[in-house]
Amino acid sequence: MAAKKNQQPPVRIGYGFDSHEFKSGIPLKIGGVALPHTAGLGGHSDGDVLLHAITDALLGAVAAPDIGSLFPPSDPKWKGADSAVFLQEAMKRVKAAGYAIANLDSSLVLSAPKIGPHAGEIRSRVAKLLGIAPDCIGLKAKTPEGLGTDNTAIAHVAVLLAQVAKSKTKTARKKR
Ligand SMILES: [Zn+2]
Repeated sequence: MAAKKNQQPPVRIGYGFDSHEFKSGIPLKIGGVALPHTAGLGGHSDGDVLLHAITDALLGAVAAPDIGSLFPPSDPKWKGADSAVFLQEAMKRVKAAGYAIANLDSSLVLSAPKIGPHAGEIRSRVAKLLGIAPDCIGLKAKTPEGLGTDNTAIAHVAVLLAQVAKSKTKTARKKR
């Protein structure tokens, strides 16, 4: 099902990965939800590892520049920023390319806190941010068995985009 020249493929896949180190004394935010924990994720913006991986998956799906290129960590403007801002920009680019999100799947790899009790809330929040139903958001959490990354949170995300049908008939009718 190779796309012809100048013709967009009907579906596009996107993949994103991110990791952040735990730092004590800062709030923990995953998937736009504040989670009770002794440490938060340091680094770029609010350190929301899941939203960053989703953002990169969306950007990758439409072959846009990655999150680090659009929002350089070196730019003080993004220090402590709400990662939902990055997600909004990625969504804008997906829409401009003529696509909508079909579904998304994710894996979180972290030793603590337990994600299970918060999974429903995270899925709802992410669904709301993306404008899709919570049952189109997969969220799995794993402990880093044998990885030696106990002080790190890792997120992997795969996303499927479907082309939005252009309403040619509408504009054609208007012209007449
Ligand atoms: Zn990140």
